[in-house]
Amino acid sequence: MTNTSFTPLDVYKILPQTNCRKCLLPSCLAFAAGIVAGSRKLTDCPDLDRGTIADFQARHQAPGPKETNQAEFVDTLQKKMAGLDLAAVAPLIGATVHKDTIIINSLGKDFILDHQGNMTSECHIIPWVQIPLLSYITNKRHADISGNWVSFREIKGGIDWQGLFTSRCEEPLRRLADNNPDLLTDLIGLFMGKAIDWYEADIALILYPFPKIPILICYQAPEDDLQSKLTIFFDACCNTNLHIKSIFTLCSGLVQMFSKIAEHHN
Ligand code: SF4
Repeated sequence: MTNTSFTPLDVYKILPQTNCRKCLLPSCLAFAAGIVAGSRKLTDCPDLDRGTIADFQARHQAPGPKETNQAEFVDTLQKKMAGLDLAAVAPLIGATVHKDTIIINSLGKDFILDHQGNMTSECHIIPWVQIPLLSYITNKRHADISGNWVSFREIKGGIDWQGLFTSRCEEPLRRLADNNPDLLTDLIGLFMGKAIDWYEADIALILYPFPKIPILICYQAPEDDLQSKLTIFFDACCNTNLHIKSIFTLCSGLVQMFSKIAEHHN
C-alpha cells in the first residue's frame, strides 16, 4: 500500500546513506522508495536506530480512519453550533450564556464554547468529552430530568450496544471498585456527585457528566461466595438528550478516567 504522508526524500534524510546494501536493495534511495511504496519497513535497515524510527513515525504518521472520522464528525457538530441560538438553547440543557459563549458544567468543571463550537476548559479537551458535549448541545430535542432511572438496554439503541457497554464500562468499573474500596466514595467528592440510598446497593452515587445526563452507579460489594455487582443506570431523559453512541463514548471515557485516578491513588 502506498504511503502518501511522506516522500522518498523525507525517508532518505534519516537513512545512514552508505548504500551498504544490507537491506538487499541497491541503494538507500531505493530503500526510501520502497518505504513509501509500502514494500519495506524502516526496521529493514539494520543501521537505523530505534529512536530515529520512532521519531520519524511520530512526525509522519497519517491519521487513521477512526481519527479522520472523528475529526470530520467534530467539524459537522461545530457547523451545527454555528446555527444555534445559544441564549435559547442554554436553559434547555442546563447551561448559561456569557457574552457570545455558552458555559456548561461537566462533573464539576466548566466548559466554555463559542459559536463555532471551539471549546476551552481548565481540563484537557479530550475526544470522549468533546464529541458527546457538542452532540448534547446541538441535539434537536431536550428533556428535563425525570427522576426515573432506566438501564442502558432500555435506552433507544441500547440493546445493540449492551455487550460493549458491559465489557467496557460496567465490568471494568466493578473490578475497579472491588480493588479500590474507597474509589466510588471518592468520586462523589472529586466530581460533585451525590450519594443516595438504593435498594440492595452498598453504595449508590449520582454523577452529572452533563447537567441533563445524570448517571447512577450502584455497587454491591462481594460477599462470601457471591461476586460483586455493579450497574450503571441513566435518567430516562438521557433517551432524548443524547444519542446512544455518545452515551457509550461518555461512559467508557469516564471509566478510563476513573481507572487512572485509581492508579494514581495506589
Ligand atoms: S541497509 Fe540501510 S544504509 Fe544500507 S543501503 Fe539499505 S537503507 Fe541504506
